[in-house]
Amino acid sequence: MNNNKEAAVDNLKKNRKKYMTIAITIIVVTALGFIMLFMSAVRRIQYVYTDQTYQKTVLVRREALGSTVSNLVREIDKMRTLCLDEETAIVDAVKPAVIAIMKEKDPAGELKEYFASFGGKFDITCILYDKTGKAVLDNMGLTGETQMYSEDLDDVFIISEKVSQGDYTALYGVTGSGFDSGLLEILSENIAEISAKTGEKYWVDKMTVLDGGKVSVVRLIDSENPRRVGMSSAESADTDLAELRNKGKGEQIFAEKDMEWLVEDESRVTARSTTCSEYYEPYGWAVCGAFRMDAVGVDSVLVQARSRNETIRIGIRMAIGFALVLGIAIILLLRNSATYFNKRHKKLKDQVEKDALTGANTRGYGQQILTNDFNRFTSKNDESPILMVMDVDKFKSINDTYGHDSGDVALKQVVKSALRVMRGKDCMIRWGGDEFIAVFYKLERTRGENVANRLRKEIAQTEITHGSNTFGMTVSIGVTWFKFGDTSYDDALKRADAALYKSKGLGRNRVCVAEDGAANVQLDEELSNMGLSESEAAELASLRDVSKEKI
Ligand code: GH3
Ligand code: MG
Repeated sequence: MNNNKEAAVDNLKKNRKKYMTIAITIIVVTALGFIMLFMSAVRRIQYVYTDQTYQKTVLVRREALGSTVSNLVREIDKMRTLCLDEETAIVDAVKPAVIAIMKEKDPAGELKEYFASFGGKFDITCILYDKTGKAVLDNMGLTGETQMYSEDLDDVFIISEKVSQGDYTALYGVTGSGFDSGLLEILSENIAEISAKTGEKYWVDKMTVLDGGKVSVVRLIDSENPRRVGMSSAESADTDLAELRNKGKGEQIFAEKDMEWLVEDESRVTARSTTCSEYYEPYGWAVCGAFRMDAVGVDSVLVQARSRNETIRIGIRMAIGFALVLGIAIILLLRNSATYFNKRHKKLKDQVEKDALTGANTRGYGQQILTNDFNRFTSKNDESPILMVMDVDKFKSINDTYGHDSGDVALKQVVKSALRVMRGKDCMIRWGGDEFIAVFYKLERTRGENVANRLRKEIAQTEITHGSNTFGMTVSIGVTWFKFGDTSYDDALKRADAALYKSKGLGRNRVCVAEDGAANVQLDEELSNMGLSESEAAELASLRDVSKEKI
């Protein structure tokens, strides 16, 4: 029975270890899981934060680019119409002067001089040919080597006037190419002015003939990062042109392309870029602008750094919160489990150590106590405790007369009464049935018999009441202690038993000190005071016993 309980205590200890291991594993796994979740959340937050900002920035820049390009188209159209009107008016206005000069003696020379000194936005080209069709004046060399007028020359002009006077015919005005280059100059100035207001600078760089059309190339300077001086490539617009022709007025094409950019030190770099093209129908121009995606990246790197700092801050707060919660959980867990295990342990320990009926120590635990005491006596030369084996007198008849329950009450009373005589570490062991062993520490051997008698009297004087039964009882006691030469506490118990039976034999309710015990008190004390080794003491003791037998 006791073995089972001891096993239960061992089991409890094992379970406690197991329980703690499981709890700590759960905590560690939870903590690791949390850390992993947190890390992925941080990555996710950063991704969403950065990505969204990047996309938003790209979107804003795209919109800005789109409206800049459409502004440019409108500006080009406005300027073109304005210039065309102005130049048409000028060409018209000079007609009387041209006719008057043609009447002069040297119309070719006079006209050449007139148009050379003519200060307008556009150069006025003039071809004067005689009645044979031979050009006598061709200030731009349009007639070529033949120097003959041909009707094709009419198409070279965008604004022209043909005047005949006498033998001469004058064809003058602004040529298409002259108009275009003049217009580009004006556009460049005007567009730069417009762009300065928005913070970014564009200008019309050049016109490239592509696929029969003309492409104006718009340069861009990113005002926030002057190093990113870029040049949208005319070639990039080439691919858009065919598609652009099918688009309606004002419609734009956005594309992402790898484009060559001219950077500040005049070297070229290829960078992923967003382009926007819009078709300008009157010229067949693709007006395009572009921005470098890595310029947007500059913004997003800043955002990324900001978001990283923010997530780190959130992370630290979360980690502190989690650590607090985890800490509290661990403390509660440890405390609860400690309380639970301590309670369970105490209960089981009590079951193992305490006799359920009387509350005295069990025989099993008593054996441990006696073994320890005996070991201390032999190995540490400790003083022996006084052992009193006691047995209730005629207990069977108490049982028989008053019933088993009253017998139980009587047994409890034995312990209660004994405790009244005991002090400190002294203890009672229920050795079995109505037999007990009282262990007295730090009690001089000479006083053993006296104390045993006090114990005996205490029990004898106590009246037991149970139900309607009132009765008394007595005990017989055998007293002894460990002696040099004893091989275990059993040897002492045998002596005490013998003394007990002597008490019984002498009429019960009395105390007997183990026969050789009393005689050897003096000797044992002397031996222990001599500080002999265990074997020497045992030898002397056996010699003494032998000599006593002889006496
Ligand atoms: P003696 O004076 O020679 O000791 O006579 P006795 O009748 O006491 O004889 P003994 O000590 O041998 O008897 C012990 C009895 O104690 C026997 C048993 O029935 C009874 N007993 C043992 N355990 C218990 C118990 O837990 N409760 C009760 N009521 N009786 C018990
Ligand atoms: Mg008895």
